[in-house]
Order: sequence, then C-alpha cells, then structure tokens
Amino acid sequence: MSIQILPNYIGKQWVHPTTVNQVDVVNPATTEVISRIPLSSESDVDRAVQSAAQAFQSWRETPATDRIQYLFSLKQLLEEHLDQIARTITIECGKTLAESKGELRRAIENVEVACGIPILMQGYNSEDIASGIDETMIRQPVGVCAAITPFNFPAMIAFWFMPYAIACGNTFVIKPSEKVPQTTQQIIQLLDQTELPEGVVNLVHGGQGAAEALIDHPQVKAISFVGSTEVARQVYARSTANGKRAQCQGGAKNPIIVLPDADLEMTSQITADSAFGCAGQRCLAASIAVTVAEAKGPFTEAIAQQAVSRVVGSGLNETVQMGPVITVESKMRIENLIQSGVSAGANLLVDGRQTRIDGFEDGYFVRPTILENVDPGSEIASTEIFGPVLSLIHVETVDDAIQLVNSGRYGNMACLFTSSGAAARQFRYQAQVGNIGINLGVAAPMAFFPFSGWRDSFFGDMHGQGRDAVEFFTQKKVVVERWFSGWSRKF
Ligand code: NAD
Repeated sequence: MSIQILPNYIGKQWVHPTTVNQVDVVNPATTEVISRIPLSSESDVDRAVQSAAQAFQSWRETPATDRIQYLFSLKQLLEEHLDQIARTITIECGKTLAESKGELRRAIENVEVACGIPILMQGYNSEDIASGIDETMIRQPVGVCAAITPFNFPAMIAFWFMPYAIACGNTFVIKPSEKVPQTTQQIIQLLDQTELPEGVVNLVHGGQGAAEALIDHPQVKAISFVGSTEVARQVYARSTANGKRAQCQGGAKNPIIVLPDADLEMTSQITADSAFGCAGQRCLAASIAVTVAEAKGPFTEAIAQQAVSRVVGSGLNETVQMGPVITVESKMRIENLIQSGVSAGANLLVDGRQTRIDGFEDGYFVRPTILENVDPGSEIASTEIFGPVLSLIHVETVDDAIQLVNSGRYGNMACLFTSSGAAARQFRYQAQVGNIGINLGVAAPMAFFPFSGWRDSFFGDMHGQGRDAVEFFTQKKVVVERWFSGWSRKF
C-alpha cells in the first residue's frame, strides 16, 4: 500500500511543498507507518503567511456576526464526524477511543465559546471624561497569528487558539506536531467545507524549521505555542525578541496531595485516572502523589491495586483503558527515568517496563508504574516523565505537602484530596500553580476559563481559551473624541 504524503493547506488549496525532506507518521500501537509529512521549508511557510496576510483585510472587515457563522458550521461538522476524527486521534496518538472523544468534546466547547465573540470582543466607553469629550476602547484584530502545537492533544490544543483568533478577525496559520498531523488535516478538511474564505486559515506541516520560520516571519504578529518547557522558553524568547506577542505553554510535573480524611477509595481511582490516563501523556497528569500522615498505608495499597488492574493495549479496543506512549524514544526515556528512580533509592512497587501486548508486540507500551519512598531531591521527583509513572512521597503535615508543591520548577496543576474545607482553602490560597483541583485529578479548565499554568509551565501573560484568548487575539485602541456643535454648549 502506498503511503500518503499529507499536503499543506494554503489559500484554500491543498499544495505539496517543494521540499524533499519528509518524516514518517507512525501508529504507536502497531509501529506501522501510516502517512508521511513534508518538512516545510521557509519558502513554504512564507507562502502560507502571504496567503493569510492577503486574506486579512477583507476578513477583518467581515462583521463578527458573519465570521462566527463559519464556526457554527464547523461545530456541526465536528459533531457529525466525531467518531471518525476520534479514530484518527487514536491511531496516530495512541490514546483510547473514549479519551479521543473526550478530547474532541473539549475542542468543540472552544468553538462554542468563540461563537460568543460579538459580545466577548466588545470594548468599553466613558461619556464626558471631560466636558463634551467621550472616550472609547475598541478591540481590533492583531493580523496574521500562528500556532505551533504538541503531539498529545492533536485536536484540542489547536482549538485553544484557532476559533478565537479567526472570530476576532485575524487570519491564521497552524503547524501541528509532526508526530500527529492527520487529525489537523481532517479538521482543516471540515473547515474547508464551511466555505471559510480563502487564506483565513492555513496549515503547514513540518518540525522545528517550519516553526522557526513562523516565529521569524515579519508578517506573523502573534505566536501561540504549546509543548515542552525548554522549547516553550526558546519560542517565547525568540518571538518576543522579534516583536511579536507570544503565549507559550510548557511542561509540567503535577503533584496531588492526599490527606488522611479523604475518601481513599475514590482518591486512588481518580489519581489512577489522572496518572495513567492518556498513558500519562497529559500536561495535567498526576506525576507525584504526596501522602500526609496516616493516608500513606491505605492509599499506597489502593493505588497499587489500581495500577496493576489497568487494562493496557491498542486504544481502538473498547475494553482497553490505556494505550501506548508516542514513540520508541519516549518509551526508552520513561524506562530510563524509572531506573534512575530505583538507583536513587526508590522502591519499585509496580513495574511497568518490558511490557509486551499480544498482537502488538512491537508497540510502544509501558504499563502503569509506581515508585514509593521517592526522594524529593531525586531526578525522578523533578523531571517531567510524560509517561504512566507515579512517584509516591510521604510527609507529615499539610504545610510540608504545600511546601513540596511550591518547591518544584513547574506550576501547571496541583490537586488536594480531603474532606476539610479549611485544608482546601489553605491549599487553594497557598499553592503556586495555575490550575487547582480539589478532590479532582485532572483540573482542566472549561473553555470559558483560561487554561492557566505558572512558573516554568508558562511563558507570557495571556493563556489559551476564554477571555484570555480574546485579549491575546485583539489589540486595544482608545479613541478620545470631541464634536463641536450648538446643541450642548459652546466650546
Ligand atoms: P515539543 O516541545 O517536542 O514539540 C511541540 C511543538 O514544537 C511541535 O510542533 C514541534 O514540531 C515544535 N518544535 C520542536 N522543537 C522546536 C524548536 N526548537 N523551536 C520551535 N518549535 C519546535 O513537545 P511535544 O513532545 O510535542 O509535547 C509534549 C510536551 O507538551 C510536554 O512537555 C507537555 O507537558 C507539554 N504540554 C503542555 C501543555 C500545557 O498546557 N502546559 C499542554 C499539552 C502539552
């Protein structure tokens, strides 16, 4: 069977770039090559940006009420093709079908919120700031905006940005992860069916080179990035040095705290879903569980049971609860980190290495893994693993647990399990992280809230989603006006 080479989408045309460099897209469960993408060159990226720049003027002059009609159509098409796109996500990314559908629901939710742009984009005004003088703030689009997205949510993350950007009157170029390009390809095919005008949204495939060409392009005014922290930091520095606005979401190492008064059965179940769901490849995955005082014994026993009983296999199999990790390099990195934890003195309570799944012997599977008595100063306690590995750390008080949360470099999410309102309030108040969960394992903000993140998990000011997205994709203009007339008073 011949392997399809995915084209770019530029100016409403599917075009094959001139570049000869290509990269394989691999199904992580089977290791089969399922398609190939071009590594778009600087001139390919320039073509996409020029198309977006040409479309900008007439798109920004299109009333917001008309612009959102394309999003209403897109929502409908996404609903109709939900199963088909979910299958694509599972095939190229590895997560289970239920997880893929859940991801798509989050994507659709962002389309729904962006349909509120006619009101969300409103400015404000004051009459008579001085005698006969009025002042108004209006929001205008920024211009050509670009997004560079990671592998782990092939559908959802593009939707933290794209619907808001175009609803606000910007034009857009997206470069998806080279590991999972097929999902974006399908979504753009649906967008094309909405009759969205030429050049409003463009797609370029590629890796670092294509991303850098977008970041350096003088006609791109804003960069939205999601990926690992080191890259996020570089992208933020380079984009802002180029005079662009930038929002760059990075990696994570999310702790959850378990107090003795928590419902330990529910807590272990929720924690397992957080740590092992999406094979731990979620920026909101629990990576460390901090047990406080006598929570240690019963929680350790319950979470170990959750880990060993998790059904691992191909995400297309409806009975499977956890799929593979994304690449062989990820599998090796995760297994090496587990070994480093053991070498640093942790006890390997559940070992998920050397996993072989019948019928998928070559797949990149790692079973749920639990390390206990992890040294808070060790490599495994501070490194983002991005795999189904949970480290257990024990402390005696809630103050010690919060201090541990605040001593890490990341600040994406932290959760507390308790039945004490006072402890919950203390935690919510003191934890230095952007997303907080109380008796929740994945505190993912709904589309009408910002997807937050602090410290090394985020570089910028405005996050994705909701009102932050409207702030990011518009620039404010303030008009002070006076009109000379006879009716009010003479000037
Ligand atoms: P990654 O950093 O390897 O790649 C992300 C994107 O950046 C890809 O499109 C890639 O082609 C591009 N890229 C790679 N190197 C680049 C460079 N030097 N300059 C410019 N662009 C470059 O990330 P990944 O492995 O695809 O995704 C996993 C990471 O994303 C994890 O660290 C995870 O925590 C993070 N993530 C964070 C959030 C969040 O909201 N904070 C959400 C999802 C994922």
